[in-house]
Amino acid sequence: MSKPIVAVVGRPNVGKSTLFNKLTGQRLAIVEDTPGVTRDRIYAPCEWLGQEFMLVDTGGIEPFSDDVILSQMRRQAQLAIDKADVIILVTDLRSGVTATDQEVASMLLKSRKPLVLCVNKCDRVGDPPPEFYEFYNLGLGDPIAVSSVHGHGTGDLLDTVCAKIDFSRLAREEGDRISVAIIGKPNVGKSSLVNRIAGEERTIVSEIAGTTRDATDTEIDNAHGRYLFIDTAGIRRKSKVTDSIEHFSVLRAYMAVDRAQVCVIMIDATEGFTEQDSKIAGYAHEQGKGCIVAVNKWDAVEDKNDRTMQEFQKKLEQDFSFMSYVPFIFFSARTGQRVDNLFPLINQVAANNAMRITTGALNDLLAHATARVQPPSDKGKRLKIYYITQPSTCPPSFVCFVNSKELFHFSYQRYLENQIRESFGLSGTPVRIIARERG
Ligand code: GDP
Ligand code: GDP
Repeated sequence: MSKPIVAVVGRPNVGKSTLFNKLTGQRLAIVEDTPGVTRDRIYAPCEWLGQEFMLVDTGGIEPFSDDVILSQMRRQAQLAIDKADVIILVTDLRSGVTATDQEVASMLLKSRKPLVLCVNKCDRVGDPPPEFYEFYNLGLGDPIAVSSVHGHGTGDLLDTVCAKIDFSRLAREEGDRISVAIIGKPNVGKSSLVNRIAGEERTIVSEIAGTTRDATDTEIDNAHGRYLFIDTAGIRRKSKVTDSIEHFSVLRAYMAVDRAQVCVIMIDATEGFTEQDSKIAGYAHEQGKGCIVAVNKWDAVEDKNDRTMQEFQKKLEQDFSFMSYVPFIFFSARTGQRVDNLFPLINQVAANNAMRITTGALNDLLAHATARVQPPSDKGKRLKIYYITQPSTCPPSFVCFVNSKELFHFSYQRYLENQIRESFGLSGTPVRIIARERG
């Protein structure tokens, strides 16, 4: 199940990032060799009393002038309205209610999204000062007094936010369709691909209230199966304004990845791999999503011979070495060449991501693997793996019961992972190996 999204909007300097950091905690990223995005302070998981959601800081843009601020605020608010389950409007006790606050509040109100009004910088404990009551004028209900710096009021804030999230609706959202996110930089050909797919197949652009969170998804039914392409209206609309700023396009991409089971990471054949590609791909990997690297505009590559594709792929395999399981597909959204092959690949990757391997088969494999390559030892103590089992899928996660976690080095985990992949063919999906100690 994808996590609900809670967006933080507000003027510059009201304390959005301070609040964001307070609520998400200054968690250090635990990533080894993944060029992940966990370090970005704009999108992070937040937990409150056992309930989890994703917190999004829609701010992060430097103010230039008042009208720039207002247009950015509108953009922030629109992103929140489009994507979030609950929106927190952050205001500042010290500056009082401003015209911009009013403007944004009325925009949010019209959207009918669940809203929470936070009055930040209420640093003094006890009854709120008289200025606080001015915020009732925004018409967003009871404001919540918070001091992001000290942490006062954040518990009340989180209580209110969680009370407004419809967790059961999110559970119902799971359908029998494979959800797919097409991600990639501007101009790689995402809209061309969606238009081609949607143009050729029977398409229903979904506006099914209550079933999907998002009216910008596209449902595709074809001979290969049933699919939900996530957030494609945003792609097809080609809203130059919304996606020209990297901050917004990256945020949208994270949110699309979260809701998807399979991510198609699109690369422009005439440009090759870039850092931004690895960032989003790294996020998809960390989140355990099925992944495919799609090289588009293959028609535009000149002087191709029978080795061109292989060489191109070899280079990409190095760029994507942190996800060595990823399959590659080369196509042209413009001519349609090989686009059809994408669907069988999506099916396969989705199936692998959801694969369940029996405990019997896993332990046979374990016996074989440990006989072939002895587990490591240190100071006379050797690693013993007693038992392996797969408690969950999406991604396939394997728990190994061991005598010592310390001895279960990364390299041996990697070896086991490779053995599992060799036997069961888990192309396109990350897997997780978890060690549990048993004396
Ligand atoms: P953003 O632009 O909305 O993300 O605002 P920041 O989080 O960068 O905060 C702007 C300024 O307000 C910084 O100097 C913060 O230290 C300060 N600030 C944020 N929250 C509080 C608060 O609760 N109390 C006080 N006194 N200052 C705060
Ligand atoms: P998006 O920003 O990722 O949605 O990219 P678009 O679909 O708008 O494509 C950007 C540009 O690349 C447009 O001019 C397209 O015509 C062109 N383009 C898209 N796919 C292909 C392709 O397969 N081959 C070639 N040669 N050009 C393409």
